[in-house]
Amino acid sequence: MVIRIGIVGVGKIARDQHIPVLDASPDFDLVTAASRHGRIEHGVTHTTIEEMLAAEDIDAVSLCQPPQVRFEAARVAIAAGKHVFLEKPPGATLTEVELLRDQAREKGVTLFASWHSRYAAGVETARAWLADKSLHSVHIEWKEDVRHWHPGQAWIWEAGGMGVFDPGINALSIATAILPGFFLTEGLLEIPANRASPIAADLHFTDAAGTPIRAEFDWRQTGPQTWDIKVETDAGTLLLSKGGSELRIDGVEQTLPPEAEYRGLYDRFAALIAAGESDVDVAPLRHVADAYLRAERRQVEAFED
Ligand code: NAP
Repeated sequence: MVIRIGIVGVGKIARDQHIPVLDASPDFDLVTAASRHGRIEHGVTHTTIEEMLAAEDIDAVSLCQPPQVRFEAARVAIAAGKHVFLEKPPGATLTEVELLRDQAREKGVTLFASWHSRYAAGVETARAWLADKSLHSVHIEWKEDVRHWHPGQAWIWEAGGMGVFDPGINALSIATAILPGFFLTEGLLEIPANRASPIAADLHFTDAAGTPIRAEFDWRQTGPQTWDIKVETDAGTLLLSKGGSELRIDGVEQTLPPEAEYRGLYDRFAALIAAGESDVDVAPLRHVADAYLRAERRQVEAFED
């Protein structure tokens, strides 16, 4: 059965990934969208999700807006009996995501909280290699130029937009997939004087074995960009780099499958729908919430786009 799907929020990620991947998928037929400003060339683009749900015969929706407005859209879609794909992060708070999970269960539809970085080419190989190793230390560095990657995105700096955790949560989604459980012991959030969300975070975690795990997220990096996770173990050093797309063990580059992050997400969404299941893992979002609970805050110089 082909799943008829509509996209909500036609912005950067909808155009870069969702639309081309859905066009190439044998499981889905993209037939409509809801967008205030954007348009798609697949049937009618409605102004609101309510209009789209009333007018269209669809099975599923993909919610590609900022996290602050995802809950309301997901709630009405689930109430209308649609399967729902949530872009990352799945919401602006933990509780709203858990309410959606409960609502989807009651309604008998699939809810998928997607974490695209978990589908990066090196992640599964890294997870499998680390599974029987003793960890000595972990160092995560996610440092990028916000002016390059998020030009003019006001929502990302507002409350619930998460600031540097918008990319940082991708690192946390990988770390929570490849490492044993860990928790925050101390941290520092640097927040520009004119913004609600951090521009940098320096986080110290540990696990039950006492492994030091440090994550540095910074949006002020110009020049080469860094999206690395380095794990020192009793059997050598694992380095996942370029957002999980490259993997080296003791400096030796590992052969990996081709890049297929969003194809992997939509294959998973289709499989969940076929099995009548949901996948709502809030572990990466919980670490962000913990950072807001446990870390110190420092005001830093105002940030202008
Ligand atoms: P974006 O380009 O700013 O687009 C978001 C779209 O959501 C807007 O075009 C807008 O479309 C809609 N929208 C609805 N309510 C909005 C509101 N209150 N404020 C702003 N936009 C609103 O953002 P994006 O980069 O696509 O990111 C969207 C989500 O995808 C975020 O959660 C982000 O973390 C995630 N994501 C982004 C990337 C990336 O590379 N950019 C990668 C992976 C995941 P309409 O005019 O159509 O309503």
